[in-house]
Amino acid sequence: MLRDGRDPEDSAIQTYKTLLRVPQDNRTLECAWRYHQAMRHLRDGRVADAIRDYKRLLDLDPDEPFVYLDLAELYRQSGTPKEAAAVLRALVAVYHRAGMPEAASEVEARALSLERRLDGAARASEDAQIPEAQPRPASPPEEPAQAADSPDAETERAAPPAPLPRPGIESVRPQDRPPARPGGPTLLRREPLGRILLQMGVITEEQLERALEIHERTREKLGRILVSMGAITEQDLAKAIGIQWNYPYVSLASAEVDPEVVRMVPHHLCMRHKVLPYARNGSKLLVAIVDPLNLLALDDVRLITGLDVEPRITTEEELLQALQKYHQLGALLEQTAHVEVGPEVPTEEEVSLDRLRQMVDEAPVVKLVNLILDQAIREGASDVHIEPHRHGIHVRYRIDGILHDILSPPKNLKAALVSRIKIMANLDIAERRRPQDGRIHLRVDGREIDLRVSTLPTLFGEKVVMRILDQSSALIQLGQLGMASGVQETWERLASKPYGMLLITGPTGSGKTTTLYATLTKINTLEKNIVTIEDPVEYQLPRINQVQVNPKVGLTFATALRSILRQDPDIIMVGEIRDQETAELAVQAALTGHLVFSTLHTNDAASAFTRLLDMGIEPYLVASSVIGVMAQRLARKICPRCKEPYQAPREALRRLSEDLEEVDKEVVLFRGAGCEACRQTGYKGRIGIFELLVVTDRIRSLVLARAPATEIREAARSEGMRTMREDGLEKVLEGLSTVEEVLRVVYSTEE
Ligand SMILES: [Zn+2]
Repeated sequence: MLRDGRDPEDSAIQTYKTLLRVPQDNRTLECAWRYHQAMRHLRDGRVADAIRDYKRLLDLDPDEPFVYLDLAELYRQSGTPKEAAAVLRALVAVYHRAGMPEAASEVEARALSLERRLDGAARASEDAQIPEAQPRPASPPEEPAQAADSPDAETERAAPPAPLPRPGIESVRPQDRPPARPGGPTLLRREPLGRILLQMGVITEEQLERALEIHERTREKLGRILVSMGAITEQDLAKAIGIQWNYPYVSLASAEVDPEVVRMVPHHLCMRHKVLPYARNGSKLLVAIVDPLNLLALDDVRLITGLDVEPRITTEEELLQALQKYHQLGALLEQTAHVEVGPEVPTEEEVSLDRLRQMVDEAPVVKLVNLILDQAIREGASDVHIEPHRHGIHVRYRIDGILHDILSPPKNLKAALVSRIKIMANLDIAERRRPQDGRIHLRVDGREIDLRVSTLPTLFGEKVVMRILDQSSALIQLGQLGMASGVQETWERLASKPYGMLLITGPTGSGKTTTLYATLTKINTLEKNIVTIEDPVEYQLPRINQVQVNPKVGLTFATALRSILRQDPDIIMVGEIRDQETAELAVQAALTGHLVFSTLHTNDAASAFTRLLDMGIEPYLVASSVIGVMAQRLARKICPRCKEPYQAPREALRRLSEDLEEVDKEVVLFRGAGCEACRQTGYKGRIGIFELLVVTDRIRSLVLARAPATEIREAARSEGMRTMREDGLEKVLEGLSTVEEVLRVVYSTEE
């Protein structure tokens, strides 16, 4: 994409840093970006470009040994050993500066060997590199868990000495380091694997001897020989290697694996390095590895995640299984991302219907759609957007009210992906020029989930938006919404009145429906007849008669309400009051012995009265029907994973409330630092912010006098109403949300 020219890349990185709130002087993102560019170039066989990227990496982080080692290897592979030797020489200097003379001399030896080869004296030194010259013939060579492809590969792979001091790695280094064999792998003196297995009691002396004989003959790894002899299991071998290298063994099959943590490292890197981050504890990342010598892998993980890596040994099989289980989406994406998209790929319009019908049942498309939905539900997304653009499609999730880019499947799947969803939603796949609406019903982990699907033709194809309606969220209790206990008590008291009108106000997406449902669920008893009129019916509530508005057949809020009133309801919920007719009927119902719930789009509670008056309802009708108004917003909650305290200037709080005189100069508040669990936003989940206005005699007389909202509001405050700002401030002080977030939602205006 941004292959040439430095500026677009740099500005993209600057933008990301700002978005992720990474300090501008932090280079991790640049390094990761550059590293991935290099990997991409290597995958595509562009070694020269990869070399360029590695050189940039060296500029960015001149103290990182693996960059030197990789770069030297690239030079060596591309037939320029002279440059390779020069890079290694530079690394020698780095190690000396870092006070690591052993590492320096090891690398120096490699540089020397390359230089000797250059001089044509390669043979002799190469012989010395083959790790056969064992000081003690009786003990088997210490070995990595996996067989290397060739002695040469072995040398190169095992060669990276532990780079900069790091917890975990550092602690396993024995005090008595043997002098490194010139040019050979930097294997440290360790307990021979055979002896460890003997001590573990999993093999006998005889088995060890037999295995050693085979090893002498074939040079195969001792551990592998014992496994194929049936003497030990893969787990035994991993445990023994763990003891040998002082890395604890982890059984990924039974360990608690955090899928969010797994996704911190791209799938292809996990596969390439046989590593899997699986759990996190603060800044420590537990990483399962197969090959204890693969320090490069640990370096990569450290670089990508910015966390301290603590290695654990596991078996290859367990690692691959866990990778498959927890990294599905990543794997699938990478698979599909490698599908070559040539210019001859037909456009959406050109794909024949028959071909489309065939494609939607093909495995990759089915799998992709399933994974997109599965992932969205697991991440708690409220909407999934599938947006076509000139060069492909973007899949985005809305999580806690904010859209996140999730993936960009290849262009050639565009038509099939959209068609698959349309078929699931019972839509006409031949119709691509008109908007359509449908529904998909899913059962995920025993939860009933409905997706409301709508399509919209755009310039580059059909855009699909799926609203996820999780039936289990219809069961949210009133007590879980975040109402202060006093507010909730008052609200429940109002909701238990036999008649009157209770309004909930706020912009779209402020959680009004959830509060209505929670309230109805609370007051839903057998002897009450509850009827709702909704557009649309979002969740099915047990024992409640829900009517879906359908203007096409003349069923509007008003007409539905009119017929419902003939059905002897006790409680009526009108999804929204949008027009005078509905408002009049609702008021009439409230005045004739029904409890009516509804919503209005106003910014605060006090404005509800003026809104009804503006709709043409007489002041005396409003004053006598409305018994309470709840204004609400949803604020994002601080992510519990990366929540951190900070000293907030008093000014920050002042912005929320003027009467904070009694607050001490410095206040400890909380914020989310940003982590993988919250997609670096620092927020996870949402909480309601409420303002409940109870209609008293004084309020009633103000409404009758057509007093402005500000006056009603002040009267309510003087009678003890807690405003949304005050409620929000309370939530900030409790460490549930942040000042910025509360300011954002409380001041957000209606559309
Ligand atoms: Zn977080």
